[in-house]
Amino acid sequence: MKFNTDVVIGLEIHIELDTKTKLFCGCSTKADKPNSSTCEICLGFPGSKPVLNKKAVDYSLRLCLATNSKIASELIFSRKNYFYPDMSKNYQITQYELPIGDGGELELSTSKKVGLVRIHIEEDPASLVHPAGMHDSAYVLVDYNRSGRPLCELVTQPELTSPEEARDFMKQLINVLRYLKIFDVNNGVIKADANISIKEGDYNRVEVKNITGFKEIERALNYEIQRQKQVVKEGKKIILETRAWDAQAGVTHSMRSKESEADYGYILDPDLVITDITNEWVKKIKDELPELPRDRAKRYVSEYKISADDAKVLTQDYDLAEFFNAVVKKTSPVQAARWARRELVRVLNYNNLEFSESKITPDGFATIVDLYDKKKITDNVAKKILEKLVIEKFDVKDYIKNEGLGVVSDSGKLEGVVKEVIKNNPKAVEEFKAGKGNALNFLVGQVMRQTRGAASPEEVIKIIKSLI
Ligand SMILES: [Zn+2]
Repeated sequence: MKFNTDVVIGLEIHIELDTKTKLFCGCSTKADKPNSSTCEICLGFPGSKPVLNKKAVDYSLRLCLATNSKIASELIFSRKNYFYPDMSKNYQITQYELPIGDGGELELSTSKKVGLVRIHIEEDPASLVHPAGMHDSAYVLVDYNRSGRPLCELVTQPELTSPEEARDFMKQLINVLRYLKIFDVNNGVIKADANISIKEGDYNRVEVKNITGFKEIERALNYEIQRQKQVVKEGKKIILETRAWDAQAGVTHSMRSKESEADYGYILDPDLVITDITNEWVKKIKDELPELPRDRAKRYVSEYKISADDAKVLTQDYDLAEFFNAVVKKTSPVQAARWARRELVRVLNYNNLEFSESKITPDGFATIVDLYDKKKITDNVAKKILEKLVIEKFDVKDYIKNEGLGVVSDSGKLEGVVKEVIKNNPKAVEEFKAGKGNALNFLVGQVMRQTRGAASPEEVIKIIKSLI
């Protein structure tokens, strides 16, 4: 393949679908005690027969529709053969020959569209627990609670060109999954395997496995790029291999030279009948499809008359969009959108916080916006309170009252402050009279300091000019 960017990244993402039961049996997907949610099917007893969970297919169809992936006309499952304790029947049931979704795309926050290769359904293997860590444990424990949980695997084209883009892709994907209501963001797991190559290494691919969540992916890929550059610098070749990401140590370890798909000896699963995915089935899913980010953005524009740019930023984070839904019930949507898009996002970035990590509540935010809108607090004071409200909880109105931050609307009081400032700064007053523009700014600044930003600058200028 020919590439023209310095870095080439493709992702294979495993999404745990938020169904009540496993993919081929009735065992619950929610269990705390190890090995408490298992049966003969997910433990792979001889003679046990899998029964497909329709909900998992419905959810996968939602994802296909949301990403414009072409839906297959039938569901076919295969056995991927391998020997390892995490799959007690020695094969994993997956889709190989014909995935449920073919192609498609997902849009990044920059509006760049990233192509998809495929979307398929498969069962999760059991989890292996190393009691003393990966390298030092004398034995391994196996927890089959996870064995047989439904996964959707989504494979992208190698069209991502930086770790930041890979992070954004994961973030936008998680956002879509949340709108679709098929992923439990608090308890569900989303993991990525990344194929990454660099120009200096002749685009020889390395697969980095086991990266959880969107923050990790940027870290893991940044590390891997530096490692590959170092290998080239030392005059060695990048070898095709699979490496594991160790999040704790912040490094990737070599696992094995890469196996090809042919090594797994796929065969069709004779226990699962081929099921037609009828047009009626797809239509039903389509009709019931929850509102997607792009639809919600359009609705915000038409319903609340906010700008398309503001709507896009607000809907790209499910939590932020839900927050906005609550805020618009209490205050002006246009002001709320403007303050959320510009100031709230700025403060979050400054504190390196995701929206969900902040302490802000719809009530507190709406109060600030409302007081600003009604000119009860100045722009300056509103920003200061917002900065505080992101990192701690408090009552906005009480705070303004206790700190005396309300707009000094009593013009007599404000005039008193201005007179005081004029009296104490004769030099600036003389300069102002002599026509120096900076002198006025200085005097206004003094008044603002005295009132702690609670006076309107226009009002202050008016009073100064009337008094000098
Ligand atoms: Zn089971």
